[in-house]
Amino acid sequence: MESEILEWLRKEMNGFFPATVGIMPPMPVPPSSYEAGRNQYYSTRILKEILREVPADGYKLLGVTEKDLCIPILTYVFGEAQLGGTAAVVSLARLRQEFYGVAPEKALLLERLRKEAFHELGHTFGLIHCTSRECVMYLSNTVVNVDSKGHDFCRHCRVTISSKIGAGR
Ligand SMILES: [Zn+2]
Ligand SMILES: [Zn+2]
Repeated sequence: MESEILEWLRKEMNGFFPATVGIMPPMPVPPSSYEAGRNQYYSTRILKEILREVPADGYKLLGVTEKDLCIPILTYVFGEAQLGGTAAVVSLARLRQEFYGVAPEKALLLERLRKEAFHELGHTFGLIHCTSRECVMYLSNTVVNVDSKGHDFCRHCRVTISSKIGAGR
């Protein structure tokens, strides 16, 4: 992972979540997560490994990878999280314009990463998919959907997160 991208994301998260956001040392992608037949990585297995890395004073841990992720029933996922749990993972692979054969766009990539990272973390706070298209918790299974949905949590989802952070530590 480019450290510049991680640092950008850390700042975005620090600006939103009432918690200290830090960056962990790089973690190898677990070989057991590789699905040779699909040339992708099974995100649920990555979540299991992420859980082992959670520091004693850690509250949530988000993995960020360039690897293309999948789960058995879907051809790909942008990320996965434990609903109401600790671990989440997000992939940059399909957020990059290059994946679709067009020129890279750094600002667009970062915007998509922010949305998907906040979305997966939202799941760790127990949020399910939101019906508001303005909300970052709206289901986005294509980049078109990622781009069209809002950039932040709606008021309802925000209240849920605040209550979890207030009570859950
Ligand atoms: Zn989701
Ligand atoms: Zn919402």
